[in-house]
Amino acid sequence: MNHPRGSYLNKRLLRLQVGFLLSAGPGACRSFPLNIPQRLQIHEDLFVESLTGDLVLTRAKDGILLQGKLEICHRRECDRCLDSFEHGFKLDIAELFALPTFAGKTDFCVDGNNEIDLAPLLREEVLIEASYRAVCREDCHGLSAETGDKLNAESDWSAARELDTEAGAIDPRLAVLKQLLA
Ligand SMILES: [Zn+2]
Repeated sequence: MNHPRGSYLNKRLLRLQVGFLLSAGPGACRSFPLNIPQRLQIHEDLFVESLTGDLVLTRAKDGILLQGKLEICHRRECDRCLDSFEHGFKLDIAELFALPTFAGKTDFCVDGNNEIDLAPLLREEVLIEASYRAVCREDCHGLSAETGDKLNAESDWSAARELDTEAGAIDPRLAVLKQLLA
């Protein structure tokens, strides 16, 4: 695996201990603020740049209900220019983590250590989000249809302008030449 930007936090951070809720019985709940403004690995091949929001964990009869709103920022490719950029999106979560005895009834469950792991859930959501179109900026110029080069770089624009100016400067002289030769 390549890690383009050195350090990152371990996804272990996304494991929440819910033993106290399990023993408290149905109806018990606890809010859980998440504030991770740093690069965090959520899977072998997947990182998010930041993760913030508020979660509420509620002990339900069959498990732990996880609800909340998150803001996730991750690096993805622009659909127009193919550059990688940081894209933020909001996510509403409502997911039941089943008790081990109910395992198999839901996609997620409380593990043997009375922990729930947010990483697989977040990975799913980030992959879904990444499958939608997104552009690095509203006015992204994308790639040149002729050369396939990126059209966003400032140098490209000034180079284009210089060419225009040159062309503009030469044209009248050529016109005069043409007249003289006529
Ligand atoms: Zn772009």
